Amino acid sequence: MIAEVIVDVLTSSLDKIFDYIVPDNLTLTVGYRVLLPFGNRQIEGYVIKLKNSSSLKTEKLKPIIKVLDNKPLILPELIDLIYFMKQTFNLRMVDVIRLVLPSQIRSGKVKEQIKEFVLFNENMSGELANIKANAQNQINAINYVKNNGLTNLAFLRSKFGASSVNALIKKQFLIVSTKQINRSPLNNQEISDINVTLTNEQQNAVNIVLNNQNKVHLLYGVTGSGKTEIYMRVISEMLNKKKSAIMLVPEISLTPKTVKQFRARFGNLVAVLHSGLSAGEKFDEWNRLRNGEATIAIGARSAIFAPLTNIGAIIIDEEHDSSYKSDSNPRYDTHTVAKFRAKANACPLILGSATPMVESYYLSQTGEYNLITLKNRVNNAPMPPINIVDMTREFRSGNTSLYSSELIENLTNTINAGEQAILFLNRRGFSSFLMCKECGYVASCSDCDVSLVYHKEDNMLKCHYCGKRFKVLTKCPMCGNQHLKLGNTGTEKVVQELKEYFPKTKILRMDNDTISTKDSYAKILTEFEKSKPAILVGTQMIAKGHDFPLVTLVGILDADLSLFFCDFMATEKTFQLITQVAGRAGRGEKQGKVILQTFFPKHYVYNLCLNYDYTRFYNKEINLRETTAFPPFSKIVRVLITSETENSARDLTHELFLKLKNLKLKNKSDFYFLEAMRSPLTKIKNKFRFQILMRVKNENENLMQSIFECVGNGNQKVSVFVEINPQNLS
Ligand code: ADP
Ligand code: ZN
Repeated sequence: MIAEVIVDVLTSSLDKIFDYIVPDNLTLTVGYRVLLPFGNRQIEGYVIKLKNSSSLKTEKLKPIIKVLDNKPLILPELIDLIYFMKQTFNLRMVDVIRLVLPSQIRSGKVKEQIKEFVLFNENMSGELANIKANAQNQINAINYVKNNGLTNLAFLRSKFGASSVNALIKKQFLIVSTKQINRSPLNNQEISDINVTLTNEQQNAVNIVLNNQNKVHLLYGVTGSGKTEIYMRVISEMLNKKKSAIMLVPEISLTPKTVKQFRARFGNLVAVLHSGLSAGEKFDEWNRLRNGEATIAIGARSAIFAPLTNIGAIIIDEEHDSSYKSDSNPRYDTHTVAKFRAKANACPLILGSATPMVESYYLSQTGEYNLITLKNRVNNAPMPPINIVDMTREFRSGNTSLYSSELIENLTNTINAGEQAILFLNRRGFSSFLMCKECGYVASCSDCDVSLVYHKEDNMLKCHYCGKRFKVLTKCPMCGNQHLKLGNTGTEKVVQELKEYFPKTKILRMDNDTISTKDSYAKILTEFEKSKPAILVGTQMIAKGHDFPLVTLVGILDADLSLFFCDFMATEKTFQLITQVAGRAGRGEKQGKVILQTFFPKHYVYNLCLNYDYTRFYNKEINLRETTAFPPFSKIVRVLITSETENSARDLTHELFLKLKNLKLKNKSDFYFLEAMRSPLTKIKNKFRFQILMRVKNENENLMQSIFECVGNGNQKVSVFVEINPQNLS
């Protein structure tokens, strides 16, 4: 027998399939991790296929040394996915394996947690008198175990002394047994399940999904329309049929509530997968899914690779969220992977959002997706009215602060009424840059070509790309001048100014700086939930699906921030962000209100936001995309070339560009645009960045393969990544 193997080595030139002989004494199926002779080393690899013969001569083949685990790690469906992702995203197979298997599983270093327990040996009841009367610890230990039943051995030793307990074990008064203990990230956060009757809209949605299982459903439902309940009902039906489910949320730490709700309803059948877990937790949660002990995987985008079989439903909540596109290596698009797995399992894929991606909505119009619309909030609460405030007018009338008089007035009312407000600003830190007034020098990171952000709390300059921290400058390193000025405002400064207006009010801040530890996010949310009045200030992470019934006011401090990013999705993202943030207001019994501050009050996107008019926004946007031939009517392809050596990156960029130019000559009608350039961020983490941008037609199905063939996977010195319709081009 011959095995086709992917070796676990990251070198691009080795990203091939190797043939190995399976010795007769090894029992093996596809998916096993194995140890292999490789050159003069031993390395690990994964069996992806078994066959009777090799095209290579048998003398040239080496035998597999041994099988490394007691079960195959990669499911057959996921092996198909490896081929698919290589083809679709130009990824190396070993990169896909690293997605499919978390490092804790691959390394073989993390082990199951086995604990020892003791139980009193009833057969020895008659012998108790033989314990010496002065062996008080032994007597106490026995009594403890008799009263409490199965007892943790380590605990017993610490309580009554190791020697006493060991003596009891030796004399067989206590019997030791072992048990595997799951390290669960979900302990101590139980809430009780609420049993609700579905609204007609919800019931209808559930029925449509259950009656059309081989489909992709776009669940377009306004904020607060009860989409989570729909997901849970569908999953519940699938569990009844002994099937499993995958539930994706944008960033799991941002949605502790969804996890809690699922946990309350489905108990231990839920396993979570995300980057915030400890190694042991990740290992145990993954294995619970792999063993079938847990059948619902909840997590951020990587949970799409959950080791589940017989999947009955895949759900992508907040499907428009940019986190579903991986923008670091390996780069892939979660929707595409989800569609592959849904098809392989013949199960429905549900994409839920109040502001679907333009591309998704388009596919629901062409009939590729099935559109399900929820028009009403569950409690029929109206959407909160949005007031647009013209900040240029405020400025002219002498108000140079961050807050319009209207916002302050409304905040005051909210606080006086004992209610809650959310303020949104998409920029963290205190101030976005530090600049010399004299010579224009801007403090920037030594490893990245970006300006540093001032953080007042720890009086440091921080790089938001690599996290490096620098001492604050007291004078300009270029000209020596001491007049340094701070640039645009960030969340930290917003909070400081706010405290001056409302010194007695609870003000909380939530952004990447305040959620650095594992639980801090949940802590801030819980604290906000129970304080009234209170104000929560934050970046876009506060827009993601939260349900705070007491919030009656939402303030958007600088709506324009995302509008002028120079990519074709800027308007789409602005519309989504505003609608999502606004959707946090008025979810409870009291009517909510939104204040939107902008320097461009006439921009059409704001007027469409005013009425929560997604379809009008969509129609306008899709027309624009069609006339300008932008996605979904074309593809934008970016090839990103990075290296620590600038020349190597530049040379390879040049070489690839020439190849692509040749391709363009042969397929003239397929290309709208092809250009090579430095990336806008020319250096990140000491790696120089170049890029080749293309806009190509969709029609030629083979074009992407040809592009991938031109581009390759780079070499030892230079990395090459391809992105299709990337979220940003920086
Ligand atoms: P969405 O995700 O669509 O914004 P959620 O799923 O967060 O909405 O639901 C909003 C609120 O409505 C939640 O507090 C949820 O518990 C509640 N809810 C959902 N369905 C019902 C129902 N049928 N009856 C009563 N309350 C419901
Ligand atoms: Zn940096």
